[in-house]
Amino acid sequence: MLQYPHLEQALKYHFGYDKFRPGQRQIIEDALQNRDLLIVMPTGGGKSLCFQLPALIKQGLTVVVSPLIALMQDQVEGLRNNNINATFLNSSLNPYKVRSREEAILSGKVRLLYVAPERLLSERFLPFLDLVKEKIGIAAFAIDEAHCVSEWGHDFRPEYRQMKSLRKRYPDVPTLALTATATDRVRADIIQQLGLKQPSIHIASFNRQNLYYEVRSKTKSAYAELLELIRENEGSAIIYCLTRKKVDELTFKLQNDKISALSYHAGLTDEERSSNQTRFIRDDVRVMVATIAFGMGINKPDVRLVIHFDLPRNLESYYQESGRAGRDSEPSRCTLFFSFGDIKTIEWSINQKTDPQEQLIAKQQLRQVIDYAEGTVCRRTIQLGYFGERFPGNCGNCDNCRHPKPMQDWTIEAMKFLSCVARCKERFGMLHIIDVLRGAKKDKIIQYEHDKLSTYGIGKDKSVDEWRMLARSLLHQGLLEQTSDGYSVLKLNPLSWEVMRRQRTVSLVVPVAQKVTWEEGS
Ligand code: ADP
Ligand code: ZN
Repeated sequence: MLQYPHLEQALKYHFGYDKFRPGQRQIIEDALQNRDLLIVMPTGGGKSLCFQLPALIKQGLTVVVSPLIALMQDQVEGLRNNNINATFLNSSLNPYKVRSREEAILSGKVRLLYVAPERLLSERFLPFLDLVKEKIGIAAFAIDEAHCVSEWGHDFRPEYRQMKSLRKRYPDVPTLALTATATDRVRADIIQQLGLKQPSIHIASFNRQNLYYEVRSKTKSAYAELLELIRENEGSAIIYCLTRKKVDELTFKLQNDKISALSYHAGLTDEERSSNQTRFIRDDVRVMVATIAFGMGINKPDVRLVIHFDLPRNLESYYQESGRAGRDSEPSRCTLFFSFGDIKTIEWSINQKTDPQEQLIAKQQLRQVIDYAEGTVCRRTIQLGYFGERFPGNCGNCDNCRHPKPMQDWTIEAMKFLSCVARCKERFGMLHIIDVLRGAKKDKIIQYEHDKLSTYGIGKDKSVDEWRMLARSLLHQGLLEQTSDGYSVLKLNPLSWEVMRRQRTVSLVVPVAQKVTWEEGS
């Protein structure tokens, strides 16, 4: 029997929807039982409802922490259009407005209060919350975009760390953390940083079936291919580039080729940006060429094509940015152009970072992007694996599944590689293992006496790149592990031992035609 039989009625009454989306009902039931919650759903999955509906049912005020003032205003407006009493407090309001909103809250009329995280720090706010708690009660804290507490997320905001003091001050108020970002690491960080108590964790699938994913090498003909993609696919397109300069250059080129295109980046004035954005949303212009400044909070459902003309900074961002295609669930295409020149550019900018921890994280994230781009298995398997979701492959909707490349048996090489990892006591990274296999005469090898190992020099017949390709493939296939502490130490698992005992074969894509070029595309 349903525990809350009238939830559907409440949904219909307040929001006009007939049924819950997958996961919503269960989450709302947990919220009504005052449990702490971690809710992970892709953008557009319907997270907001998970705290909004309980807020209307429960006693007291629900406080929503949200990082973007523009989004906050949109949400509050949306709720008000549904006759739901919601309000927000942020730095855009004058003291007079703040006071009148505070009074409305204390009168008990307001159900949802949206605040920016920096507001939590302000001297007046916490005493005000104390008063709210005493007079009308606090139903829950909902922390939107909760990944902002984590340095491992793609959008770390130091002010989010203040949330912990909120928890300390009101230990009995249930907290809901919501995010569309969901690596294991970020999840663990959210739970720890926000001090969630035995949270009920809900993770929706991140698979976006309607998106076709492909990776192309960025050769000299990349621009021609880009043009063809735009001409062959109807509908709106977003093209992401790394720098403002590249955005402007590409826009200019496209306009010359009679494509209706505009730029979007932080170098434009506020007016230009908002006018270009509006024209894109209204279909006045077909193609938006943009830096990553574009997209946050933009909900254009019918984007048919998202092209990354430069390498994204990490897989998380790639998922979010490419995910702006096909929000309406119609077939759409996500193309990534990949070159080693881009890697060099990003490596250079990583080396400019002064904080060693930040550097380490950025390097590891870059590694994962490269692994994705070079990957030969189903793109979804790699992408969803990154979010901790197991995907069996054969999606039928990515380049690797539709055009599988010929395979070769590399079992012997895999055995050599894995034994070398074992002989080095699972304490070294990929490059060191390859050095040992290829019999390199490096100090580090002499120092650890790895030149005395039986695997020293047994892999001279293969190049560093070939070994690297094998190692990555072993990682992708789950036949080898890598620590995620930034040192990327290789570790064996039960499957690795099966390979070494010849109980399992290993095949690889033939490396004849190197997919990637070393040349920077124009
Ligand atoms: P998220 O915060 O996860 O990105 P939103 O909460 O903004 O997603 O929801 C995305 C869209 O789905 C919104 O337009 C919302 O009104 C709609 N929506 C949410 N739940 C339902 C539902 N049960 N039935 C129909 N539409 C829903
Ligand atoms: Zn696939």
